[in-house]
Order: sequence, then C-alpha cells, then structure tokens
Amino acid sequence: MPASRRQFIRTGFGLAAAASLPLVAGCAAPAAPTSVTSSIAPGAFRARVGAATVTAVSDGWASVPLAEGFVRNATLPQVQQALREAGLPTDQLTIPFTAFVVEHDGRRVLMDAGNGQFGAPTAGRLLANLRIAGIDPRSIDTVLISHFHGDHINGLRDRDGALAFPNARLVVPAPEWDFWTDDARRAAAPGAPGGDAVRRVFGPIAASVARFQPGGELVAGIRSVAAYGHTPGHTAFSIVSGGQTFAYLGDLTSIAALFVRHPDWAVRFDMDAEAARQSRRRLLDAAVAGEWIVGGYHLPAPGLGRIVRRGTGYDFVPHA
Ligand SMILES: [Zn+2]
Repeated sequence: MPASRRQFIRTGFGLAAAASLPLVAGCAAPAAPTSVTSSIAPGAFRARVGAATVTAVSDGWASVPLAEGFVRNATLPQVQQALREAGLPTDQLTIPFTAFVVEHDGRRVLMDAGNGQFGAPTAGRLLANLRIAGIDPRSIDTVLISHFHGDHINGLRDRDGALAFPNARLVVPAPEWDFWTDDARRAAAPGAPGGDAVRRVFGPIAASVARFQPGGELVAGIRSVAAYGHTPGHTAFSIVSGGQTFAYLGDLTSIAALFVRHPDWAVRFDMDAEAARQSRRRLLDAAVAGEWIVGGYHLPAPGLGRIVRRGTGYDFVPHA
C-alpha cells in the first residue's frame, strides 16, 4: 500500500492526503458496466450510480491497540501477518467510520449516523463533513440504520437530546429493534455492546421510529437486504439504477484487510459468528458477480469501492 494511501486512511479524509490523490483514476477493479464518475472533497467522496448520487461521508476514525481476540478464530500472528501483507501496522488498528448519503428520486437518504459526541476524539465528524460536502443535515429526509451498535446510531441525537437530522424519518430493521429493546434477550447475549446507546437514542423517541422487515423496498428505490449475524437484525441496503448496483454493507465486514480478505474470520463484535460468515460470503459473492459498487462503514477510505475475488477470499478495491 503506498504511503499516500496509508496517510489517507490514518487521517481519515485528511485535506493534504485527499489533495494528493487524483480526482478520477482507474483502479484494479474490473471495468464497470458504465463508468462511475467520482470526485473527492475533503471528508467526502461522491460517485454516480445510474441516476442516483452516492456520497461517502467520513465520521472520522478510531485507533485501538491490536489485541488477542479481536479476531475470534485466528491467532494474533495470523492477524498480524494479514495486516503486514496489506502494508498496515501490526500493533494497532485504525478503524474508519463512513456513512453514506444516497440521493435519488428527489429524496436524500442517510445510511447510518456516526458516533456523534460519544466516540473517540477523532470521530464524530459526520455533521461537519456533510456540510463540507454541501449536504445540510436538515435536508436529510430519511435515515436508514443498519444495526444498533453505538458507532452507527449515537450520532442521531446529541448529549442534550437534540436530533441531528430533525426533518428525517428514522427507519430501522424490525429484528434489530426487537432484539435490543427486549431486556431478557439482550441480557442473554454475552458481551453485546450497544444497549446503552439504544436506550439513550431511541428511548424517548420510540413512537416515531419506523421499523421494517428486511427484504423489501424502503424509499426512493432503495431496498433492504437481510445480512444477519453481526447483530440479530443487521441489514444492508441496495439500489439499482442505470444497470449499476450500489450496496451499503454496514458492518458485513470490519477491517477489510482482515475480514474481506479472510471472510471466514469473525470479528469479536459478530454476535452470531456463523450467521455473519454466511451473510458475508453470500453478499461478497453477489458483489463480485454483479460488479456492485459497495460502501462499508469500516472499509478503508473513501469507504466506497469494489470487491474482487482473491484466492479463497476477496479484496476490497477502494475507488480513488
Ligand atoms: Zn460498526
């Protein structure tokens, strides 16, 4: 991985690093059916998918020490080897956070909501980066949530309880809602993070949150796709326009160098590792076959790119 790319990831859409990347460039991914026009602004990366516009917007990143157990079913030396092969540090993990805005059919839809004021000091930049991208948070009309881990929902309301997207309808997967709001089920899930965030974010506004069963169309041609395992109701979103597909994969994979490359590995946050593995294989296979443009919340900057097959796993090829 070139230094500029590493720097880009480390700084999370940093100005200097972004400026060093070409505005439009070919990448190693297979040729798209129709070309994707992309542009980089600080904190945001925009792609056209048929008649839809998809903007990846950084919420920043978090650095955590790499510890035994981050990957449940691989040893620390195996994990370090995978990081080394990707040109990444082997003592710490940099985890990016990227939300997506899809504009289609006169609608402006946000997918996941960032850490807000509740994450690492280097996170919580979604609102600022939306404005930099020319997207007023008040103009978001729908927020779709992939799952209820805090880094995906805490940005919905600030410490005072104010809504970050005051004009948006909040739309969440029903199986996710049902799990996290059932105290007995949640208590029975060992080590499940997120309960506090769910209570804080959704408790006072529960009546206004729309819930859907994954598998149908939600808004503006965007469909939901069940991708259970990471959490009980983890859901992806996809839109097809002009013969192209964009799919927001949420946390189908965490760090690409580990879990795209080794899709049978389980990050410790996967609540049902086997279900997550099957969802990962199914959707990554579909992404390759359909030449999808994919977005992922923890994929390397800009969080938007393509999946290619490599050996028994895959690679994520970021758009650049
Ligand atoms: Zn996450």
